[in-house]
Amino acid sequence: MVDVSALNNFISVIEQKFPAIKIQSDHLTCHDWSTATFPTTGKTLAILSPSCVEEVRAIVQLAVDYNLPFYPISGGKNWGYGSRAPKHELSIAINLENINCIQNYDKVTGTISVEAGVTYAQLQQFLYEQPDRWRFNGPGSSPFASVLANTLERGLNQGVQMEHWRSIVNIEVVLPCGELVRVGASGGDRGLASGPNIGGLFSQNDMGIVTSMTVCLDPLPNYWQHLHFSWLDQEYQFANMVDRLQMLHRKGLFATSLAIHNLEKIISVTDQYPYIDSHGTLPLPASVKQQYQTELGGDWFGEVAIAAPTAHILDMLREEVNKELDNLPLICHWGEKNAQGPYFHDFTQGSHQSMYWRKLDISSSDNEIQKIVSISPERDGCGVIWLAVTMPWNGLSRPITGSDTNEPLYEFIVRTCYEAGFEPFVSMQYPNHRYGYMVISIIYDRDQSGQDQAAVALYYQLKESLEKQDYVAYRSSLLDDKLSRTDKDLLLKYVNAYAENQ
Ligand SMILES: Cc1cc2nc3c(=O)[nH]c(=O)nc-3n(C[C@H](O)[C@H](O)[C@H](O)COP(=O)(O)OP(=O)(O)OC[C@H]3O[C@@H](n4cnc5c(N)ncnc54)[C@H](O)[C@@H]3O)c2cc1C
Repeated sequence: MVDVSALNNFISVIEQKFPAIKIQSDHLTCHDWSTATFPTTGKTLAILSPSCVEEVRAIVQLAVDYNLPFYPISGGKNWGYGSRAPKHELSIAINLENINCIQNYDKVTGTISVEAGVTYAQLQQFLYEQPDRWRFNGPGSSPFASVLANTLERGLNQGVQMEHWRSIVNIEVVLPCGELVRVGASGGDRGLASGPNIGGLFSQNDMGIVTSMTVCLDPLPNYWQHLHFSWLDQEYQFANMVDRLQMLHRKGLFATSLAIHNLEKIISVTDQYPYIDSHGTLPLPASVKQQYQTELGGDWFGEVAIAAPTAHILDMLREEVNKELDNLPLICHWGEKNAQGPYFHDFTQGSHQSMYWRKLDISSSDNEIQKIVSISPERDGCGVIWLAVTMPWNGLSRPITGSDTNEPLYEFIVRTCYEAGFEPFVSMQYPNHRYGYMVISIIYDRDQSGQDQAAVALYYQLKESLEKQDYVAYRSSLLDDKLSRTDKDLLLKYVNAYAENQ
């Protein structure tokens, strides 16, 4: 429990000693920060915005002295996982958006350091202005998300490197005691020194505040081409199709990760809930879904890209892919050579409008959607919950174990979502030929009564069922414990045992 006088004393010490740190503790701002796109219990007591690492260290040291829980936010776009809300009941937010320098750009090796507040838009603009053809693709949410936070949270990005966290070179972190340490390789042009790589300790948990990170950039190839394709369930089963696509990935024909989305996912990004055609009923009636299927010509929609050093090699590669796909009932569309697309582009476009899928009246937020910098799905009552799970390539089509029906996992997910009153928005993202990430989004209108409870219940039901199949979440939200108590205890046990033996 937070002592109010401790909080007041903490704030006055900060005001006296560090007048440059911006402090906000008014009700409206704290309420905004405490609100996510689903129900949460934590409350933000104050938001402190430092502008340099020394100020972060001072805040951390003082917060520990005054026994005040704190948490970092870098871009504040953690929509669907908890937004800017705290995990603990009452906490101080450390807003790092003003610590946003880009440093140590190495145009030869393609590495760069970003401070916590650097956004994808900022980094992409920087790289675009350089003649060296390095790129760093962003997530599907917003170009104003933090590169550092998204990478630490093991975000998924469409591009050559779908998992940016694998390309972290080093990180600089403020420990809970206020000390600043650097872990990882000492520069972008050399590998790790001997010993364990403890950089991973600071990913997806609250063991420190990462203030800066050096990452590897992706080279923009000389030539590339995007491939979009779709197919109907009745013409070719998902299981057979992913088997074929996996082989192409394994043969090295694709230069990027591969994404496959279901019909519902596509319409959530391109459309608004069809309240008129559905006569106001929820979830999406089968007849209306059928109309979409006819209009868009598929149940499944995929995207991938090829790349080559010369136009001639690119043409040969495309022919090779075409040959492989020739006898499959796919509708394929190749983009223009070197056209911007999901995988090769200069600037990431966010798909944030999908959060408004079920909003009855978005006229008030319409302009906001255009102004993507200031968009606030939390204030607009958008309900969004992500469930992100890692699984084998064909995990979606395997029958679920422990049931008599032999129902394939995907059908189970679809049935469970519709029965609970929600559309199943499902995407599969495959970084390589070994495994994939399934991301299910539950999207609803928080202003409609009972929807919050129903959505959260569905989230736990799906999560539990998937865990029973050994398909575990790869990223957690405020609805989960980031690091389970058991893991924390285990870690402490290791550290204590190690310390005792020194
Ligand atoms: C429509 C939609 C599409 C989306 N698409 C994608 C997608 O394609 N890929 C994807 O990855 N995500 C996606 N998301 C989820 C989310 O929006 C992004 O992951 C986003 O990048 C997270 O916000 P942020 O980077 O601003 O992080 P922040 O909000 O700043 O932080 C996220 C979390 O990271 C931790 N953190 C932040 N800063 C630090 C720090 N300095 N040190 C230690 N820990 C820290 C905190 O726990 C914080 O809660 C999507 C969401 C929506 C609604």
